[in-house]
Amino acid sequence: MKEACGVVGIVASGRDVAHLCYDALYALQHRGQESAGMATFNNEQITVVKDNGLVSHVFADTTLRALAGSLVIGHTRYSTSGSANWTAAQPVYRSAGSSGFALAHNGNLTNTTVLAEAAGIEFTSMLSDSDLVAELVAREIERGGSLVDALSVVLGEAQGAFSMVLLEANAVHAVRDPHGFRPLCLGRLGTEDAPEGWVVASESPALDVVGAAFVREIRPGELVTITSAGVQTVQLLEPASDKEMLCIFEFVYFARPDTYLMGHQVHTARRRMGELLAQQSSVEADIVMGVPDSGIPAAEGYAKASGIPFGYGLVKNRYIGRTFISPDQQQRAAGVRRKLNPLRENIAGQRLVVVDDSIVRGTTTRALVGMLRDAGASEVHLRISSPPFMWPCYFGIDTPNRDDLLAANHSVEEMGDYIGCDSIEFITLEHLRTAIQLDGECCDACLTGNYPAPVPVVIGRAGKRW
Ligand code: SF4
Repeated sequence: MKEACGVVGIVASGRDVAHLCYDALYALQHRGQESAGMATFNNEQITVVKDNGLVSHVFADTTLRALAGSLVIGHTRYSTSGSANWTAAQPVYRSAGSSGFALAHNGNLTNTTVLAEAAGIEFTSMLSDSDLVAELVAREIERGGSLVDALSVVLGEAQGAFSMVLLEANAVHAVRDPHGFRPLCLGRLGTEDAPEGWVVASESPALDVVGAAFVREIRPGELVTITSAGVQTVQLLEPASDKEMLCIFEFVYFARPDTYLMGHQVHTARRRMGELLAQQSSVEADIVMGVPDSGIPAAEGYAKASGIPFGYGLVKNRYIGRTFISPDQQQRAAGVRRKLNPLRENIAGQRLVVVDDSIVRGTTTRALVGMLRDAGASEVHLRISSPPFMWPCYFGIDTPNRDDLLAANHSVEEMGDYIGCDSIEFITLEHLRTAIQLDGECCDACLTGNYPAPVPVVIGRAGKRW
């Protein structure tokens, strides 16, 4: 699984917003490492700088100093739609109306073909869904509407996941889809009595790093407009239900541990997943270890609840990004060795409980178990802090086809045999919901097949697509 972009928007008069945006994007680097970009408005024109690579590769200090202005949006990308080349980097710019606008998107639209056909646009794989939205919005503006009017029309027809930020002359807008699949929050620079600026970002650590106080999450279907005069909000799109359908995997894997989602810190939720997993699936063992990074808090929770000591068994190469995944199965297995190396003295002769966040294809887990056995582990018991991943995601996370999802085509016992572990257990959905203290809904379609919004293919429950 790969993340699907992080977005930032900042309005702060008299502040160096490009440097602030850089720091915020850096805090969101885990959400996408293919490309990074920013758009600023300097009272005359919008300037966009974007390129392939990490945030630190794309922006030099001189570039940031040239990006003058008090309004900025930024983006860090992993492609779930469209090509991964330079032209797909964001923000996307369109000249329309008096100043044009720039758009940055986290998510994935599921009805791009329908939207494009209705507008007479040939939608090719070279175009991203974000490009398509920008084009449709530009056409609406040319018909005489404002940017917000155009968003109301275009996003009113859009289906799927979108947390977007947009920049036009003197305003930054942030809008979230009616389900609220992907996170988006609002923060304030300065004090409540004397605000010095406003920030929107995919995750709260991007607010922390620029010194902004968390104010609240943007509601599903809400549009927030930030100008030098302050913040205005409007319910642009009717929410799909009374409760947001935030992606449950933001809690399990995607979001940073220090992020707050729905009022809960992700790290705390992951520890509770481990605690509940231990209560549900106990085993006799000598050491509990987590697969870095997102498996570590759940392993700590498992150790606490089981009384089995927590220990470190794997060292992660910090200089390999999450995108360091090779294209075929054999290379994918080799990728595990590049990324993780066992601490042999902690492992040799030990019965291990190994806690990981998920199993998608199973290839990397199988290679990991082989590596631990080669390092001398006497037993390897896998505990997974999400239920079996059975269905592809269409809402902004890149997952394989159903045919390639191990859990979609094998029983839990068969999965254990393939992976080569001594036992394997997955947290139940009920325990996962308890761990994240969910009092309403979350999207869990990849675990249950219950897609909260239409998806572009018909998927049979018997494992066939037709
Ligand atoms: S299908 Fe799964 S990965 Fe996709 S948004 Fe829903 S919970 Fe998240």
